[in-house]
Amino acid sequence: MLLRTASISLFLMASTALAAAGLWQEPAPQQEGVGYTDTPMLPDQPWRVHDKNRPVPAHVTPPGQSTQDRPGSPPSDALVLFDGSGLDSWQGGQWEIAGDAMTVNGSGDLVTNQAFGDVQLHLEWCTPVEPKRTSQGKGNSGVFLMGRYEVQVLNSYANRSYADGQAASIYGQFPPAVNACRPEGQWQSYDILFTAPVFNKDGILSSPAFLTVFHNGLMVHNHQALIGGTGHRSVGKYQAHAAELPIKLQDHGNPVRYRNIWVRRL
Ligand code: MG
Repeated sequence: MLLRTASISLFLMASTALAAAGLWQEPAPQQEGVGYTDTPMLPDQPWRVHDKNRPVPAHVTPPGQSTQDRPGSPPSDALVLFDGSGLDSWQGGQWEIAGDAMTVNGSGDLVTNQAFGDVQLHLEWCTPVEPKRTSQGKGNSGVFLMGRYEVQVLNSYANRSYADGQAASIYGQFPPAVNACRPEGQWQSYDILFTAPVFNKDGILSSPAFLTVFHNGLMVHNHQALIGGTGHRSVGKYQAHAAELPIKLQDHGNPVRYRNIWVRRL
């Protein structure tokens, strides 16, 4: 009881401070349903049009905007994978952490401790200044959903490479719709929606993986069905795998930085 009272007063103190700073607002109290009970039924749904009894969605505090100087805040229902405080959510490489960011350092790929299927994934990346490097050797890293479906990270601002290997490509399969790259040394974002492939009990593909990708806020893939796992100089193939697998960040030997990584299970 004492603990509960203490935590309530801590909450009140914190919310008062946030309210004073204009950062926190009391959520609206739950109200009785508003709507209709005599409207037509919606097709293939157990609800009427404007159904009074239809549950309203939970309120989630949306993410705070990032700037070049500062990463934004994650949404309130996200699982934070990296916020600068450590590599607790990852295994594999021991990338260097400085401030809010971590840097690829040749110690190996990073792989999440947790496994994921369908997700919304947000991350921010920054390619280094490497004037002597070209094509796939310039700022190369990658975001591998389920450890096998790569959204390419590359310096593609003024660096020609093959189209299906440039930044935001689904590697070796689909170029991004546009090149939304910022110059090296600037922070960029990916917002990724991933639908995991489904295999039947015999390991035969029954539904492919899908990717929707926003690069710096621009749509570059819209519910794109993947050919299979992504690979170098080979046509992607599906191989049956678990319904959930870890997310991987690639160590390709270029000191690419990452910050503000969060994920929501869908
Ligand atoms: Mg790569």
